[in-house]
Amino acid sequence: MAPEVVYHGGRFYTLDPAQPRAQAVAVLYGRIVAVGSDEEVLRLADARTRRVDLEGAVALPGFHDAHCHVLLFGLSLVEVNLRQARSVADVAAAVAERARGLGPGRWVRGGGYDQNRLAERRHPTRWDLDPVSPENPVWLYHVSGHMGVANSAALKLAGVTRDTPDPPGGRIVRGEDGEPTGLLLETAQDLVKRVLPPYTLAETKAALAAAGRRMAAEGVTAAQDAWAGWIAPEEFRAYQEASQEDLLPQRVWLMVDVEKLPVREGRFDFGFGLHTGFGSDRLRLGAVKIFTDGSLIGRTAALSQPYADPPDTSGFLVKSEGTIREQVRLAHEGGWQVALHAIGDRAIEATLDAVEAVMGPDAASFRPRVEHAGVLRPDLIERIRRLGAVVVTQPRFVFEFGDGYRAALADERIRLTFPLASLRGLHVAFSSDRPVTDGAPVLGIAAAVLRRTASGAPYAPEERISVEEAVRAYTLGAAYSAFAERELGSLEVGKWADFVVLDRDPFQVDPEEIAKVRVLRTVVGGRCVYPSADASD
Ligand SMILES: [Zn+2]
Repeated sequence: MAPEVVYHGGRFYTLDPAQPRAQAVAVLYGRIVAVGSDEEVLRLADARTRRVDLEGAVALPGFHDAHCHVLLFGLSLVEVNLRQARSVADVAAAVAERARGLGPGRWVRGGGYDQNRLAERRHPTRWDLDPVSPENPVWLYHVSGHMGVANSAALKLAGVTRDTPDPPGGRIVRGEDGEPTGLLLETAQDLVKRVLPPYTLAETKAALAAAGRRMAAEGVTAAQDAWAGWIAPEEFRAYQEASQEDLLPQRVWLMVDVEKLPVREGRFDFGFGLHTGFGSDRLRLGAVKIFTDGSLIGRTAALSQPYADPPDTSGFLVKSEGTIREQVRLAHEGGWQVALHAIGDRAIEATLDAVEAVMGPDAASFRPRVEHAGVLRPDLIERIRRLGAVVVTQPRFVFEFGDGYRAALADERIRLTFPLASLRGLHVAFSSDRPVTDGAPVLGIAAAVLRRTASGAPYAPEERISVEEAVRAYTLGAAYSAFAERELGSLEVGKWADFVVLDRDPFQVDPEEIAKVRVLRTVVGGRCVYPSADASD
């Protein structure tokens, strides 16, 4: 049968060692049926075959974000987004604009502000928010997620007054007059969160659609959501419908939080025994996500040696080593892949201990994942190699947070932080953790190649890798992390026709220019998803 569509006239980097370069790709039923020169591939076309001339542009396998938060990212796009706010006035203006568009009483929600980036160097308060949103309750989360600000209408709904005691593990911040300022720390946030209306199915789908559009524009053809099932009541339904309705054109994996998996009689009692891999080529269950520690910037990542600043803490494991091992065992016996969030070296060690204890010498075949892998001592790298674990890391962290890591760890441990060159020979998948960082894959690739922080300071530059290594980690490496390397990650006959067309050749441009490479076209299953289908071909 003749192909449905032939993309020709391109400069494909296939990442297939048997045929690294090609001009054309033919597609039938979403899969690649031929790769080769224009002459070889166009010969297969018949009168009904659509021909798309790439006019000499460079094409690569589609980018695959192995750890991101699709729904949270989508919500950050549709809700009040304060990541760029530079003053309390900016915050108030964004809230005012949103409140104007809503009926009275509807919640204004959003966040992502960082008080260190606001000119006033303080959190917004209810007194800043009340004048611009007197009739709409407001809840704005801090970029860390560890705190948030409510206005007076929201505090009223939450029943928070000057007489409300601080809940265990949290604090209601108060002014000199004893009145709550609106800032709620840690568990005190729950006072407001429990009165926030749950996201409706329509809101959830709209957020997924926003994420899908943006990711398509950035060349992302596959995305693994690293923490699904806790934000909206009908989250899986929203994913399923968004995928079916093409609102979310990427191939998506949903990792499930271990804390959301009920245990009965010594096993997970979830979805009639569903486990990793269930679903279709467009939407399927990923790993079980197991948290072991926190973050370096928050000084909650578990280190084997104290932080440089402050030196009186080493962070902590968020659960005992026995619990980590038990959760890995439950997941493993239930047929799930495991993905352990581990940033500090002590957390990574606990992760590898659990994996080794549960999976033994066959661990590699189960592809246990270490998510982030922030502080990697050489002995841990060696253990990861021996166990065949997969490192799912975020090269962009060094750019966005590297200056903060330097403060947290001082110079001796910088060399160990989010290393890349030291991971050669391991299974490495790249990702963004968006919305934690700006998730455009070209930014991640640039960060891996340049190893510089936002302030411009070099950050363990000996850990730089090549563009090709970075691209592989964002394609084949990510596919491997999801047991999908036979269907995705390179352009070969039999694989899905997922690729991205770029305006410049990232392998040829000055490394300083990589971040500026633009996506001209994104193709999933042979179909153009960016620019949107109606605008193209
Ligand atoms: Zn994450």
